[in-house]
Amino acid sequence: MTVNEHITVAVVGCGQWGAKVVSAFARMGVLAAVTDADFKQANKIARDYDVPALDWQSVLDDHSIMAVALVTPAKDHANMIDEAIRAGKHVYVEKPLALSASDAEAVADLIARSGKTVLVGHILQYHPAFIALKSLVQKGKLGRVRFIQSTRFGPGRIRQDEDVLWCLAPHDISMILSLTGRQPESVRAHGSYLLRADIADTINCRLMFADNMEAEIAVSWTHPYKQRNLVVTGDEGTLVFDDDQPWDSKLRYFNNTLTWEKGYPNLKEGDSEAIFVEEREPLLQQTKHFVECIRTGRRPITDVQEGLSVVNVLDAAAQAMLDQKGVPTKSMAYKIPMVDLKAQQKRIKASLDKRIADVLHEGRYVWGPEIGQLEQKLASYTGCEHVITCSSGTDALLLALLAIALVPGDAVLVPAFTFVGTAEPIVLLGATPVFVDVDPVTMCISPDLIVKGVEAAKKAGCRPVGIITVDLFGYPADYPRLHSISSAMGLWLIADGAQSFGASVADHRVGTLASMTTTSFFPAKPLGCYGDGGAVFTSDAELAAKLRSIHQHGKGESRYDHVRRGVNSRLDTLQAAILLDKLDIFPEELEQRQQIAARYACFLKGVVQTPHPPPPESKIHHAWATYTIRLENRDALQQHLKSLGIQSTIHYPKPVHQLAPYQDCPTIEGGCPIAEQATSEVLSLPFHPYLDEDTQWQISNAVRQFVVDQSTQ
Ligand SMILES: *Cc1c(COP(=O)(O)O)cnc(C)c1O
Repeated sequence: MTVNEHITVAVVGCGQWGAKVVSAFARMGVLAAVTDADFKQANKIARDYDVPALDWQSVLDDHSIMAVALVTPAKDHANMIDEAIRAGKHVYVEKPLALSASDAEAVADLIARSGKTVLVGHILQYHPAFIALKSLVQKGKLGRVRFIQSTRFGPGRIRQDEDVLWCLAPHDISMILSLTGRQPESVRAHGSYLLRADIADTINCRLMFADNMEAEIAVSWTHPYKQRNLVVTGDEGTLVFDDDQPWDSKLRYFNNTLTWEKGYPNLKEGDSEAIFVEEREPLLQQTKHFVECIRTGRRPITDVQEGLSVVNVLDAAAQAMLDQKGVPTKSMAYKIPMVDLKAQQKRIKASLDKRIADVLHEGRYVWGPEIGQLEQKLASYTGCEHVITCSSGTDALLLALLAIALVPGDAVLVPAFTFVGTAEPIVLLGATPVFVDVDPVTMCISPDLIVKGVEAAKKAGCRPVGIITVDLFGYPADYPRLHSISSAMGLWLIADGAQSFGASVADHRVGTLASMTTTSFFPAKPLGCYGDGGAVFTSDAELAAKLRSIHQHGKGESRYDHVRRGVNSRLDTLQAAILLDKLDIFPEELEQRQQIAARYACFLKGVVQTPHPPPPESKIHHAWATYTIRLENRDALQQHLKSLGIQSTIHYPKPVHQLAPYQDCPTIEGGCPIAEQATSEVLSLPFHPYLDEDTQWQISNAVRQFVVDQSTQ
């Protein structure tokens, strides 16, 4: 004791670890005072060790106190070191030296000029097992060191100011730098935020050194038990420092050797031996070293330069964590796609190939004879007198609105729950869509709300002229009621049948249910081509003539005679040829759609809200364009299905009046809450005429599993 007689240390911070530091300095006979922001705690410790409890300023002012030991939050380190050095004290500071490289550099500069002793508490450097390990490495026991792995896990106190890397990894970095004797060339790091969004609690960090040497650090507060080990692997064996083992096996050597057999490396398990290390308390070794350095003026092993190099690595890791850009893994094709066009193609391949070859041979890519043939066939299938094919379902609506001479100032009532293509042509013509809420069962425009739609149009200063209905998901709108309401109110009725080709009401097919009906031949629709296409259906000869003219630049009697403003919107001959083949098998496919929908209803009954089939007395025949279920957490279900390779689609994530370009358009008074809720809950499952029962069962089971898991959580 006598050698330490004139050395005096005040311990600042008397928490859990601080109390241990107090005990260590007290045992050396150098404890002079304690301080803590919590006076009760400071007084208790002071009484236990018979030293005064002072406040920080008094410690600084007291010239009899030579050194301070800072066991305070890391965010205060830089400031307190600064104050202590300026007050002429030596400093012992717990790791990390500071919470940023710039703070650490500033104090390092001040310390260098002061000539005072500063020790950073990288305690494992004073651990007899690490000292023995380092000595063995330096003596060449492992040959050339190739890889260091350091793990520090434990259910820890979650810090408020620093993440788990700054809290735990200073130990690992300090040991690694001490073994390699150099800074890494670069650092990579990845953090996980399992407990708090702002502070990473689990971090993996990789230090890349020159000569292909690498070190890996894994730290976590979320591990269920303590795990602290350092594995140093060299060409000639491995040393493991496992601090969770008793003293006789804290340090072990593994003599696994690499052999080459027939050109392939093989790691042969060899002997392992425990290496004796003398049991010594690392903290006491550290405090002793500090006092020794003050007495002799020697530089501490873990001096401020060492502390600074550790902070530099921490800083680089923090930066690397922010810069992290995940590399997306190659996305896998869905095992179960929404629509399987290949199954259908297989069925019609031979005749399809021939038809396509014929078009190529004829070379009449525009206005080929297949166009007329298709229009004929579509007319006879639907029972509609005139069919005008065009470039898309959206264009079909544009043609219909041009034929009806929609002008600015006009308002058209449309359902809020539809694809944007229903409203788009209205605004393109300068007119105003008025969004009307849907029927809660059919999801089609509610006939009860047409009056409200007309009121909203007038309130917006527009002239209500018509209604565009949508047969959402293939369910025909309530045409009988819509007809009587619209004719009573002097409104025209156009049907957007993009999803309902093939559906019917009382044996009247879609195409004949409104003065004009439009449809889409987009590949995923009930009748789809291999690109874009659409058609307008009407039994009004005058409208039909106008439509024909409009879709050919307002063509008159002869070529280059243009009698009205029009557009260019025609179906390609190739697409018409493809549709001719598909139309041949369409009635059968429509029948299969009914069966597959019925099977889903059976598999998913009581699991999720399934779509309502039309009641038999309604004489409505659904086209089942999609099979769209509803549930509250559909995004999570979609993820779950995706993880199982099952595709699903949200038709549609927002009602049209909530899409940015339509937010200024009027809605009926009270808005469209039914559409809004539906769009937050819908999810369409894989659906096509070739979906077999096993696959459907697999999909339904995946949905069921998700719902059960959710309800038991
Ligand atoms: C698909 C669709 C459209 C647009 O059809 P395109 O051929 O893609 O232009 C319009 N309205 C509804 C309801 C649709 O589902």
